[in-house]
Amino acid sequence: DVEVAIKVVVVGNGAVGKSSMIQRYCKGIFTKDYKKTIGVDFLERQISVRNEDVRLMLWDTAGQEEFDAITKAYYRGAQACAIVFSTVDRDSFEAVEKWRSKECGGIPMVLVQNKIDLIDQAVVQVEEAESLAKKLRLKFYRTSVKEDLNVNDVFMYLSERYLEI
Ligand code: GDP
Ligand code: MG
Repeated sequence: DVEVAIKVVVVGNGAVGKSSMIQRYCKGIFTKDYKKTIGVDFLERQISVRNEDVRLMLWDTAGQEEFDAITKAYYRGAQACAIVFSTVDRDSFEAVEKWRSKECGGIPMVLVQNKIDLIDQAVVQVEEAESLAKKLRLKFYRTSVKEDLNVNDVFMYLSERYLEI
């Protein structure tokens, strides 16, 4: 059995919950102020997808969300990409297309609206998020890393899409 390894990059504006999502998915925990461990580029998790063993390497941006600050090494060899915005951060929603046009073309990609536990304070309407996903032809998930809602689905979808190629 040859194991499949997939490099997944998680992009989006600062504070949308990327690091928290990676930590939640790989370590099963949520903390209010997660600090990236210095020297660690990614966290990993092994899952089974259609009877295949898949090792997901989830790359974190180390807080370098300023566009040009993200190094080429971050994107190099990326095989799947999650673009994340926050329910309570309008700018992060409006930045989605810019993130999409970054260097990860031609790989499985997904759009993620995080922090849906804060739906009472939403500054992005469900319909506009859905129509953006449609326009960009991206599968769309709504997650709460805090409440552990739909996070697994995001990475299962990317894995399945990757295996289809
Ligand atoms: P990053 O800059 O995109 O990596 O974002 P972080 O993972 O550092 O998260 C920024 C803040 O949002 C932290 O205080 C997290 O605890 C919080 N956060 C992340 N996900 C959620 C969520 O689903 N719901 C809520 N309410 N807060 C979240
Ligand atoms: Mg972070």
